[in-house]
Amino acid sequence: MLRPKEDAVYPFSALILDDHAFQRLVAVQAMQGLVSGPILQASEGAEALEQLTTHGAVDILLCDIQMPGMDGLAFIRAVSERGLARSVILCSEIAPELRHSVMQMVDLLGLPLLGDLGKPLRIVKLAAMLRRFEAKRHESGKTLPALIELPSQVEVQRALVDGEFEAHYQPKLDLISGRPLGAEVLARWRHPRRGVLGPQHFLTAVLRYGQLGELFEQLLEQGLALAGRLRAEGRPLPLAFNLDAEQLSDRKLCTGLAEGLKRHRLLGSDLTFEITESSMLHAPATSLENLVRLRLMGCGVSVDDFGTGFSSLKRLCEMPCNELKLDASFIRGMIKHERYRAAVASTLAFAHTLNLHVVAEGIETVEQLTLLRSLGGTCGQGFLLAKPLAEEQLLAWLKQASATAC
Ligand code: C2E
Ligand code: CA
Ligand code: CA
Repeated sequence: MLRPKEDAVYPFSALILDDHAFQRLVAVQAMQGLVSGPILQASEGAEALEQLTTHGAVDILLCDIQMPGMDGLAFIRAVSERGLARSVILCSEIAPELRHSVMQMVDLLGLPLLGDLGKPLRIVKLAAMLRRFEAKRHESGKTLPALIELPSQVEVQRALVDGEFEAHYQPKLDLISGRPLGAEVLARWRHPRRGVLGPQHFLTAVLRYGQLGELFEQLLEQGLALAGRLRAEGRPLPLAFNLDAEQLSDRKLCTGLAEGLKRHRLLGSDLTFEITESSMLHAPATSLENLVRLRLMGCGVSVDDFGTGFSSLKRLCEMPCNELKLDASFIRGMIKHERYRAAVASTLAFAHTLNLHVVAEGIETVEQLTLLRSLGGTCGQGFLLAKPLAEEQLLAWLKQASATAC
């Protein structure tokens, strides 16, 4: 394909995701004329994630929004959480009145959005977006974030054997009194060479190699030991663990948990399990069975990233959950956008009616905290309140929090 002469060839890599073979071919050819890095292509979200996991992150993600299987928004969220792309260009066919909302949503998912090309793709428009990306990069003087290097199965296995995975804890606070209400357990890898790594550096790999069960067992054991100690000292701290859809269908999940609770002299109510809204949507019968069993054991079940999975109200009413974790994108969006503010307010009201507890995620500013409180939010989590902490740091933080409360 010919490209306008004045356009430079940029040293970028790209991934083209489009379920339509001809449109994908057009996009790949256009991109080939404009960038010198590798160009990956896929026809659906799961395949694209697989490619990014295998080949590494790309500079530009060019994708459609409406696709069968994993839709574009769910895909962009997964890519953003795993650090697999540095920017996004949409090439969607959605109605102009919806385009603005979709662009706003993508922006709130946390990846820089270069624009929407629409369809059919126009190479001049694509070239202009790449030019802007290059200019922005120079203007800010920033180098691109480092590409994520995923570990091999042998490396993960060695780390599991050597006990390098650590539970870190991010406190959840009562937004009125400032009292800690519990903590979320987040996986970290204390890597001997690379320092402490967050889940975006290893979770995809761990899942892919089928080692998530083993990782979870290690984190659970660390968490239960800590919670058992705190309860024995008369200052119980409920913990919330993240569960992947795959783990939910494991028939042995609840028996292992019951044994752990007993061994550490804990109650079911000391634990909550966070499951994303999207994984609940496609949960098979065994998963639902396990969720009910967890509730019968006294554990909490929380819908993580609430608001991003488009679950129907009916489906939500059927889920055996007692908590919603309102996704950080709403907290980020509510200051500037009336609609997000309305969504936060109506989620709080709706949860109240259904007797569901709401935890607001990702509170980063005093302005967000104040607005959330004024809308009736009572529980939250976020860097403003406390970052995820290693065990020793958490113990020091709890000491200080109780001293401040006295
Ligand atoms: P999540 O469950 O939504 O966890 C919240 C993420 O948001 C955490 O990232 C936390 O560090 C981050 N966070 C908390 N407050 C703020 C804030 O104010 N601003 C911003 N920008 N971020 C904030 P983290 O630890 O990198 O974890 C990312 C995701 O990895 C988690 O998202 C969860 O889905 C997954 N994950 C972490 N640990 C585990 C685990 O043990 N098992 C499973 N299955 N998934 C895990
Ligand atoms: Ca979570
Ligand atoms: Ca979340």
